[in-house]
Amino acid sequence: MTDPKLPPLVHAGVPVLRAQARAVRADELDRAPLLDLIDTMVAVMRDAPGVGLAAPQIGVGLRVVVLEDRAELMARLPEEQKKARDRRPFPLTVLINPTLRFEGEARATFLEGCLSVPGYMALVERSLEVVVNASDAHGNPIELREKGWPARILQHELDHLDGTLYVDRMLSRSFSTSQETAARWIGRSTEQIKEGLGVR
Ligand code: ZN
Repeated sequence: MTDPKLPPLVHAGVPVLRAQARAVRADELDRAPLLDLIDTMVAVMRDAPGVGLAAPQIGVGLRVVVLEDRAELMARLPEEQKKARDRRPFPLTVLINPTLRFEGEARATFLEGCLSVPGYMALVERSLEVVVNASDAHGNPIELREKGWPARILQHELDHLDGTLYVDRMLSRSFSTSQETAARWIGRSTEQIKEGLGVR
């Protein structure tokens, strides 16, 4: 049950999800409004539950992202799928004004969903390894070098800050309801999903 004190998630169709979010100014760091926003975002992410949340997803056009992947969120995924995706717990991380660069040429294609596009999933090809530079809520610099699933979450969440949704990048023939994904595809390999849905 969604906590009634939390702001609602903003869904596709609302302009803030398609806008360029504004950078957080230096004088906004380490101040109550930003720290309160981060607390709210973490609560919304955990309540959903999701593995990441960008401020536009609660209607705030600021370049703020929170991420956290916990063992219980991946409990349904078979061991070999966790391994294929390189999905592993990722500690709670707050990123202010993040920038991302792709590291190397390797790409990977897996199913992805989004709290702002509820009820659906699709295959999305993304870079396997990324480097993200940002600051934390207090203005301390952060550099993350991530591979596998954490790299995918970072690319997905940072896209939100530029008004991009996964549906802009998906292999559109793989677009599936969450229900059919759970019934048919969650334990299958990307190749099996592509074969089954005629993804070319
Ligand atoms: Zn999303």
